[in-house]
Amino acid sequence: MVRRWDVVTIGNLSRNRYWGESDEKPLRPALCTSTLLTGEGFRLLVDPPLADAEAMAFELFRRTGLRPGAVTAVFVTHGHGDHFAGLGSFSGADWLAAPEVAAELNASGKAAKPVQGASGRLPGAIDVIPTPGHTANHHSLAFDCDGRRVVVAGDAVMTRDFWDHRQGYFNSADFDQAAATIDRLAHVADIVVPGHDNYFLPRA
Ligand SMILES: [Zn+2]
Repeated sequence: MVRRWDVVTIGNLSRNRYWGESDEKPLRPALCTSTLLTGEGFRLLVDPPLADAEAMAFELFRRTGLRPGAVTAVFVTHGHGDHFAGLGSFSGADWLAAPEVAAELNASGKAAKPVQGASGRLPGAIDVIPTPGHTANHHSLAFDCDGRRVVVAGDAVMTRDFWDHRQGYFNSADFDQAAATIDRLAHVADIVVPGHDNYFLPRA
């Protein structure tokens, strides 16, 4: 079981149409939300965002008191660079992604060691669930903690506003699929951790 989960970095978008901003050009650097899931014998970090090793280590330490060596596994939701830029800081951990995403990352040559395909139920009763739309192979994680179903969505949900509007982002691959994925998550999630925002409780 996941005993606790902690948001390590709270992400933001380079441009946010729900803040009145145009999709045309970036206004600031994007940062993805990363989350640490902790249980018996594992510490699983989802979507490590920071390429700078010092910055990555500092964010982890600031939010959890842990050093990178304490992370046992890293899970990457999809093949966009801002969601795996920090992999290199966790060389001692298992690098995991859904098999299709792992194949993508391994073929890209951007990961310094092989990313392993992970599907179904991971140790800690963490489910890898397909959440296509943002990318064709996007996968999220879902688990129960303290009696609530938590979905670490990655970019299947960009921010709370994109969830409320059932919208993909300007760079999403398939908008109908992105909307259908959010609809599907709305039936299961008590808490959503989006790809570029703080976690939130879906409206009833
Ligand atoms: Zn993305």
